[in-house]
Order: sequence, then structure tokens, then C-alpha cells
Amino acid sequence: MTGSDDRSELAGRDNDSSPGPARVAGAADLDIASSAWELERIPAAFAVARGPAHTLVRANGAFRQLMRGVDLAVGGPLADALRSRGLGDLLAVLDRAMRTGAVERDCRIDGPGPAAERWRCTIWPQVDDCGSTVQLLIELRTAAPSETTLALQREVAERMLLRALRDRDVAESADAARSRERLLATEGRRLSASLDEGTTLQAITGLSLLQSGTWCVVDILEPGGEMRRLAIMHRHPTKQLLLRKLHDRWHPRPGDPFGIPAAIANATATPIRGDCIAAPTVADHDAETLRVLRSVDAGPFLTVPLMIGDRLLGALTFVGDAAGGAFRPEDAELAEALAIRAAMALDNARLHGESIELRVRADSANQAKSAFLGTMSHELRTPLNAIGGYVDLIDMGLRGPVTDAQHIDLGRIRSNQRHLTTLVTDLLNFARIDGGRLSYHFADFVLQARLVAGLEMVEPLAREKALVVEDLACDAGILVHADPEKVTQIIVNLLSNAIKFTPAGGRLSIRCATAERAALLRVTDTGIGISSDKLASIFEPFVQVRSGLAGRDSGVGLGLTISRDMARAMGGDLTVESEPGDGSTFTLNLPLARQREAAGHSL
Ligand code: ADP
Repeated sequence: MTGSDDRSELAGRDNDSSPGPARVAGAADLDIASSAWELERIPAAFAVARGPAHTLVRANGAFRQLMRGVDLAVGGPLADALRSRGLGDLLAVLDRAMRTGAVERDCRIDGPGPAAERWRCTIWPQVDDCGSTVQLLIELRTAAPSETTLALQREVAERMLLRALRDRDVAESADAARSRERLLATEGRRLSASLDEGTTLQAITGLSLLQSGTWCVVDILEPGGEMRRLAIMHRHPTKQLLLRKLHDRWHPRPGDPFGIPAAIANATATPIRGDCIAAPTVADHDAETLRVLRSVDAGPFLTVPLMIGDRLLGALTFVGDAAGGAFRPEDAELAEALAIRAAMALDNARLHGESIELRVRADSANQAKSAFLGTMSHELRTPLNAIGGYVDLIDMGLRGPVTDAQHIDLGRIRSNQRHLTTLVTDLLNFARIDGGRLSYHFADFVLQARLVAGLEMVEPLAREKALVVEDLACDAGILVHADPEKVTQIIVNLLSNAIKFTPAGGRLSIRCATAERAALLRVTDTGIGISSDKLASIFEPFVQVRSGLAGRDSGVGLGLTISRDMARAMGGDLTVESEPGDGSTFTLNLPLARQREAAGHSL
């Protein structure tokens, strides 16, 4: 690439064994006006000329002094000036150096004017990576000094020149590194500014390298494997207009040596370069595409794959000017760094999009499930209540005399009807909690009263299994702030579970206490217990640990889910400690009523 930060070879091909400047990077545009530049102090005349017409880029004082009478306007063609002043010899050496790229050392040439004195010149061509001569560094001397003086002079000149070039190179490298860092930081911010895929792709299409004239082609590999040319971006508005014509016709095709087809064939994240060839000539394009690509001077290209791990998401192709040289290693590094950021931004945006889509789908599936459960349980409860009502009617003898055996059967029907009603109520509550539709009526009340009410409800069950409540300690002074109905429901659930999962003859203990701003109610049984790996999951909906104990009265695995959800919704919690074989302790935690917060009761 040509341009102020080129990295190429000064002194071209040097067949001379003298201490000539070997490779000097970053010196295409020698700025002799800069303080680092010591060309002025070198005891020889120096100038820099560029291109086939030897356009003058720089000339030091000694050079101007020597060339008195020659028009040395910077930016003007030195070739014309030399020709008009009879310096054809010098021009011929310059042309040769330009053509061959080889250093011309100590060439004897005629000076200007009729009584021309003999001059000597040394020309260092500057050759780029593609072998083209970019510019010439010209040194002129008048006298014909001795070989020793000449060698010394040349060594001094070259050393000073080299130092100046190196200083300049270091400064330029530091500048370039700073510019690259700035570009990476800015582009990184731009790329990560949004998690929306469309906005991220738009940010990717705005990427460019530092060189002016470089333009960018963005290809995307769709999740289905389809290759898509997303954008062709040139910063120059006129060239962008020309390239716009390619939007509908310049598609990536298998076999293309750049872009996504090349990235697929390459299968690694390393850049793919087409250094010294013009991009349009290396792919099988139609005539119109070739014409447009030529008209924008499409030159060397650099394709960097957009990859996450071994997943290829797309490819960025940077295209240089046809007149420019190859992309430098720093260009490739910068392009790779940009590609990594672009790939990450695109991947994040896609994952974010997918997660939103999944959440929306899950939410709507959940809503449908809750709505179904809600409707079904509601519809089931009405006939179940009717069954209960008619059983009571018959049992009370209102439909005629009932035999003892019929009373027993009616009892069984009633017990089954109650069990079914409990299951359906659980389902309805769960659906309401899940849909956020369960309402709470908060009040301050005595916890003990709810415990007594709950115990009354489960007492027949406990009696049936000959279970003993060996320890019942609950201070009537503990006032909680919650929904009394819901608290009763939780207590009944904990007590029925304790009864259900404790073998006949076992023991229960129930204790209340206060701690900090909470009331604690603990239900402990000597039942089968729960293994530690199941402890967390028993609060999940529909989870039941297999045991032979629950029997006919087994629920559907919603009791604890509902109880903990309700406890949490009231500002409390429900926790469990258990040892398999030793029993379990469930602790219901509820907020104390304001006036009782300070009171302390220990378990
Ligand atoms: P279910 O209606 O099936 O009892 P729960 O949500 O109330 O549903 O309980 C979930 C599971 O937790 C039960 O199936 C049982 O395996 C376990 N479990 C609950 N309480 C106890 C307990 N006191 N002792 C042992 N296991 C229990």
C-alpha cells in the first residue's frame, strides 16, 4: 500500500557490499521538515522524488544549492526540470533506478551548463512488498573525492540517514499503534453498543482499516449455511455510488478466493490475503461486475473470517487500491482484532435474540398451561362440591332411610370426594400463583389460633395412624402479619405431610418461636425423612419422592410448592432439614405483627 504509513524497503535491491541502508520500514514519506530529520546537516545534497515523473517530495539545502537554476518546486516533476537544465544523465540514472529497483551507487554524471563539471550521484530506490518502486532517495556530490573520502562521506551520510529514518520509523510505528488502539477502542464500543442483531450487523458494515482508499465487503453465513453478501462499503461517496450497483449482482460464490467462500475453504481464523493482485481479476465475475470493480480501482484484498471457536459466522474483506501495495502485517493484525470483536458482538446479539425468543415462547406456553389448569380445576370443583352436597343429603336420611352399610359407603364417597377436592384446589392455587393471580388479605393474628385450627383438621388422620403429638408449644402471644387463611393452609399441608410420611406409632412435635422480626413455626416428625439430594427439589412443582407411605392419599406434588410460594409472598419462607430414616423438620417463617416484633420467644 502506498501512503504515509507504508512499510516497505528503502534502497531496494542492493548489489553493493558497502554499508548501505538495508531495509528501512515506514519511511515512504520522509518528512525532512521534522525536527528528527537530519538531512539538512548531512554533508551532501539529498532529495526524495516519487513516481515515474520523479515528482519532488523533499530536497535539502545542499541539494537546492547544487541545483541552482533548476525549478525545485515540491510536488513538481523533477524530470522536466532536469531535462530543461541539461541534466539528462541524472534523469537517465533516476529512470533506471525507478525501473530496476536497484541501488545506483556513485554514478558519474554531467553537471548542468556547457562547461559541465563532473558530478556523482547515488540513488536508493524504495521498493514496496510487491516489488514496485515507490520513490527514490537521491544523493548528489560535485567533486570527485578520493575513494577513502567518498566511502567515509557515504558511510556518514547513510548512517545519519538511517538514524533519521529509524527515528522516524519508531515515531510512525508508535503513532500507528496509537491510531490502531484508538480505532479498536472506538469500533469495540460501537460493536458492543447494542444487543440487537440488526444494529450489530450495521455496526459491522461500518468497519474499516486505517488506510484511506481501503473499502470493505461484509459476508454473512446464515445459520442455515447460506452465504449472503451483507454490505459493500466504500468511504468515498462516488465510489460507494458505483459499488451500490453491485448489491444485486456480486454474490459470494463457491470458489471465490476471498470473502465467505474463501473463509469456508480456509476453515481457520487466519486472514486470507491476495496481495499483489487486483481483486476483480481473481474471481469469475460477470462483465458488469468486473467493470464496476475496475472503475473503483479494486486492488489487493485481505479477508478475515468472523469466527467464534470453530463456528464461522461470516467474513470481512478489506480491499485496497489497485495502485497501492500489499496489506502489511499490521493491517492483517488490525483486521483480525476487528474481526474478533465483530464476531463476538454478532454472536452475543444472536444469543440475546434467541434467549428473548425462547423466553417469549416459554412465557406463552406457561400462560397457556396456567390458564388450562385454572379452567380445568374450576370446572372440576363445581361437580365435586355437588357430589359432596348430595352425599350429605342422603347420609342425613333426607332421601329416605339409610342402612349402616350405606352410611359406610357414603363415608367412603365423601372421603374420596374431599381428597379429589383437595387435589383440584392445589391445582387451582398453583395455577393462580403461577399466573400471579392469587390474592392475599393481610391481617395481624395469633399464630397459635391457626395452629389449633389446622391440628383440628388433621386430627382424625393422626389418630388413624396412632401418631402422638408429644410436644406442642406455641405461645398465644405471638402475633403475625399475614393472610390467616393461607397460613392455615400451609400448616395443614405441613401437618398432613408429617402424618403421611411418618409410620404408624411415630411422633410429631410442633413449636413456635420468634427471631428477629419473624415468627417461626416448626413441625418435626420421626418419619422416613428425605435424602439430601432431594431436599431442594421437593419444593419444585409436581415433585414427589418415591415412598410406599403416602398411599392412597398421595397428592400431586404441589403442596410444598404452593406453601413455600405463599409463605414467600407474605414476606416469610418455608425451609426443611431432614435426615433419611430420622425424620424431617419443616420451618415456616412469617413476619411478626408490628407491635410484637420486639418480643422474644425461644423454641
Ligand atoms: P405431596 O402432595 O405429594 O405430598 P408435597 O409438595 O406436599 O406433595 O411434597 C412433595 C414431596 O416431598 C412428597 O411427595 C414427599 O416425597 C416429600 N415430603 C414432604 N413432606 C415430607 C415429610 N414430612 N417427610 C418426608 N417426606 C416429605
